[in-house]
Amino acid sequence: MTASSHLRPETEPSPGETISVAEATYLNRDANPVIQILVRAVEQTDDAIMITRADGIIEYVNPGFERITGYRAGEIVGRSPSVLASGMHPPAFYSELWHTIGRGESFRSVFTNRRSSGELYYEEKTISPIRGSDATISHFVATGKDVTARIAAERRLEYLANYDALTGLPNRSLLHDRLTQAIQRAHRQSKAVAVQFVDLDRFKLINDTLGHNIGDRVLIEAASRLRQCLRATDTVARLGGDEFILIQEDVDHPDMVEQVARKVLEAFAPRFLVAPPQGLFVSVSIGLALYPVDGLTPDELLMRADLAMYRAKEAGRNSFRFFEAAMDASAMRTLTLEVAIRGALENGEFAVAYQPIIDTHTQRPVAIEALLRWHSPIHGTVPPDHFIPLLEENGLIVPVSRWALREALRQTRRLQRAGQPGLRLAFNLSSRQFRDVGLLQDVTAALDETDFDPRLLELELTESALMDNPEASAAVLETLRARGIRVAVDDFGTGYSSLAYLMRFPVRTLKIDRSFVHEMERSREAATIVRAITSLARSLGLDVVGEGVENVAQLALLQELGCHHIQGFLFSRPVPAAELARSFPA
Ligand code: C2E
Ligand code: CA
Ligand code: CA
Repeated sequence: MTASSHLRPETEPSPGETISVAEATYLNRDANPVIQILVRAVEQTDDAIMITRADGIIEYVNPGFERITGYRAGEIVGRSPSVLASGMHPPAFYSELWHTIGRGESFRSVFTNRRSSGELYYEEKTISPIRGSDATISHFVATGKDVTARIAAERRLEYLANYDALTGLPNRSLLHDRLTQAIQRAHRQSKAVAVQFVDLDRFKLINDTLGHNIGDRVLIEAASRLRQCLRATDTVARLGGDEFILIQEDVDHPDMVEQVARKVLEAFAPRFLVAPPQGLFVSVSIGLALYPVDGLTPDELLMRADLAMYRAKEAGRNSFRFFEAAMDASAMRTLTLEVAIRGALENGEFAVAYQPIIDTHTQRPVAIEALLRWHSPIHGTVPPDHFIPLLEENGLIVPVSRWALREALRQTRRLQRAGQPGLRLAFNLSSRQFRDVGLLQDVTAALDETDFDPRLLELELTESALMDNPEASAAVLETLRARGIRVAVDDFGTGYSSLAYLMRFPVRTLKIDRSFVHEMERSREAATIVRAITSLARSLGLDVVGEGVENVAQLALLQELGCHHIQGFLFSRPVPAAELARSFPA
């Protein structure tokens, strides 16, 4: 019988004869009330119900089935349920199905099927045998629910649990799985796996100054540039924030790793066209660790690659470093410092020391330079070269420096009132602060609060801070100059900028880096450089300060070269404000 289930049969079947489901449906219109309820239940339930003969040919489908599959009963009765097949299940799935129901048991599973429209859907289905009065299987009944929405939600959750929503890259958890598998493969094949820890340089700055939208676009672009540096079989993952991990497999030699690292650095050379109008340059620092030499587990490898990445940053960013065993020990210390410094401001652990800058003609201080000190109850006195990078990294440099500036202004103001009216204060700014949008407001507020003459404040900036973004620097320097605040170039000579270029900035002072002052005695070349700097600076009307003067020979040489402002242990070490009085002879 191939007609629709709703067709009225011509004759009633004789007793004992198998009847088709369609016939039964019709017959039961007049049957007893219990059977009528059963029929209505089958016809009206939301679930899909399909009844097939023992040979699998469909005899009946209910309206629920029609709704879910999109097939009308008329077009599907008499055919095999395989019309629903999606091709997504392996043959073993169906043989298992037939095996189970053939044994007389129910088969339960989520089927991936295809609607008449061709669209895939998921059906949670149970297929059970129906036995006749003689106990042989006469039919099968399949009841199913459309669980497509649920499965899609589950898939989405699974995706979210494994992928980063912003960049679409594997996240930390999937990275962990992939790295574990890569390690296992490498172990079997006696190969190495490289973990590259890639961290965007100064990303925090981009986020803070240009906003999270731009920050997000930079991350998306970074992800796609990284993906292009590896083979499709290797993994690029986002660890979080601006940290990415590359897993490189099949490594025979460190050169192969270095090659990829160079490729990554090159990939970041072109500007990111995310921020109008000229775009942004975003470089990366990369730390490299290799299985099995640098670590055997994913965590070990990631930690060591991270350490190496920090070293790359310290070495001036836009570079890569391989992990070395010596990094571990110093890392432990940095880690504990990082934790300790978080509460240092609230706990009053910071202090400001002052080092006078002397005019060698008058032998009197013309200025004092404020130098930040951290007295940690756990670590003792930590040198600024160690803790300032930490403050920059965690963003605390801004509040700490805000505090230090007020403290320094207040103490200097006291000295001014006590008989040094023209005494200047030199205050160091890191490049991070120089880029801070609140800088000018902070400085102005501090000057107002302490009643400090802006012309007596000099902000010290390194060459690299100025040259990082020359146009932006020029603008900030111009506003500072308009307020009467002086600017000094600190550690001059250590950067790569040409003096001629620097001269275009409105700066008032050059501080010759102490490495030149030290070398001067031994090296003619250093002496020549100092002489050149001094004479050029003086001809431009700039003040020149020689830093790090420790002995009279250096002092004499500097004077001879025309540098009349000096700073160094020869005259005074940095001291607390209370001890400064000694530097001011009556
Ligand atoms: P800097 O600005 O070049 O400061 C001068 C450094 O040279 C000071 O080191 C000082 O103690 C040292 N020094 C002075 N005279 C001599 C000498 O005759 N011989 C030798 N060998 N060294 C001398 P310090 O205090 O350890 O500071 C190191 C750096 O930390 C500073 O270098 C500065 O860049 C940074 N720093 C210090 N305080 C602050 C601050 O409040 N904010 C920022 N952003 N950076 C700061
Ligand atoms: Ca300085
Ligand atoms: Ca300096």
